[in-house]
Amino acid sequence: MPLKVYNSLSRQKETFVPINPPYVGMYVCGPTVSGESHLGHARPYVTFDVLYRFLMHKGYKVRYVRNLTDAGHFEEEGREAEDKISKKAVLEKLEPMELVQKYTNLYHWAMAKLGNLPPSIEPTATGHIVEQIDMIQEIIKKGLAYEVNGSVYFDVTGYAKNNDYGKLSGRIIEDMIAGSRELDGQEEKRNPADFALWKKAPAEHIMRWNSPWGEGFPGWHIECSAMATKYLGTQFDIHGGGMDLLFPHHESEIAQSKTVSGVSPVKYWMHNNMITINGRKMGKSYNNTITLREMFYGGNEQLTKAYSPMTVRFFILQTHYRSTLDFSNDALLAAEKGLQRLMNAYDTISKLQPSPASSVDVSQIEAACFAAMNDDLNTAIVVAQLFDAARLINSVHVGTETISGSDIIRMKKLFDDFLFTVLGIKIDKLDHSDAFEGLMDLIIEIRSRAKANKDFQTSDQIRDALTQLGIAIKDTKDGVAWSKA
Ligand code: ZN
Repeated sequence: MPLKVYNSLSRQKETFVPINPPYVGMYVCGPTVSGESHLGHARPYVTFDVLYRFLMHKGYKVRYVRNLTDAGHFEEEGREAEDKISKKAVLEKLEPMELVQKYTNLYHWAMAKLGNLPPSIEPTATGHIVEQIDMIQEIIKKGLAYEVNGSVYFDVTGYAKNNDYGKLSGRIIEDMIAGSRELDGQEEKRNPADFALWKKAPAEHIMRWNSPWGEGFPGWHIECSAMATKYLGTQFDIHGGGMDLLFPHHESEIAQSKTVSGVSPVKYWMHNNMITINGRKMGKSYNNTITLREMFYGGNEQLTKAYSPMTVRFFILQTHYRSTLDFSNDALLAAEKGLQRLMNAYDTISKLQPSPASSVDVSQIEAACFAAMNDDLNTAIVVAQLFDAARLINSVHVGTETISGSDIIRMKKLFDDFLFTVLGIKIDKLDHSDAFEGLMDLIIEIRSRAKANKDFQTSDQIRDALTQLGIAIKDTKDGVAWSKA
């Protein structure tokens, strides 16, 4: 059965046909490593990790390129141009590359915790300055970029004369101009919609490189075009990222690459929808950002406890990637319980007694899981099918249904293939953290009982011992909450 994916470019589901089967080239925009990874980073990387896993499961040979933006970039949509990385570096009194290394390490740690496979190539912007300069020179040669005072801008209106700039994002140039009034370098641009390919570095700017236009640094969009072209060619199969990157980032990537090669660079553009927290957009201005470290170890007041990375992964995959996803403590608690139910069912498979014939239909569930994944990665349906399977396993276990020996093997394979291989849930870590959770519940229960019996010596002893272990417990109106430091 062929895979169908929703292509943001055509705004419809299309049958996935690789340009050069069995090879698949996939590029996903990586993070700007100038800050700690947060919940917003979990969704795109889990989503495209599942796509990567499923493509390999279907037998494709995938080259998965996911970059690291480690050269300061400025945001066209922001109020002012700024080099995020060097500004933060001054504040924290670190070398820019020291800061980049610190946040890269934290990001890799969080990705591994979430069970995301490492990409095939993880190129950095600072490692590809030469390629970016080359590409900018090509664009100038084609007459679609111009230099002003050591900065180079892409000529959007010139490009739009012969190409449909705005096709991916559905924006029209008039909108873009209206929305880009007070941006940096505006006085230098021929047209407000133009975007920077290279930016002259001001004196205080730490990250700077020599170029034909003087010392400066590359724009953010050119980084992805240059690295995707280098490792995947002028035309490749899949480009992924969050919906927030549709404009201006991905739209600009198309314009740059197409100017140089003459062809549209990407066959299938795929975008995951955004996350909200308790129904609100996540962001610094809402004061509701949750870092992945807080998620896994506790310490954020929006959460009553820490959640295992596998609970977070499972929670993300319970919703289709093109729907919005709302994180809340209650929803995470429910996901934790749900995943536990599946893991318990998986353990029960090995305890089932085979019957001569099956009353349950495992192949039908298997087919439904495949069909759901082939239908634009509908992981939500896969999870629902696995819950059905868990219910059947329990029915066989209590004797209301029967299963044959070969179907027992098939049932185990269903979980191995879909829950572990394709959805990427890891078993060991989960058992570990669940045992830990169980122990914490037990200890809190013993302490509560001691308190109820006015045995304050014991209750204080438990609290102090936990503090020594870096675990804080807090009495709240809903009971006792704990968190790991
Ligand atoms: Zn990108």
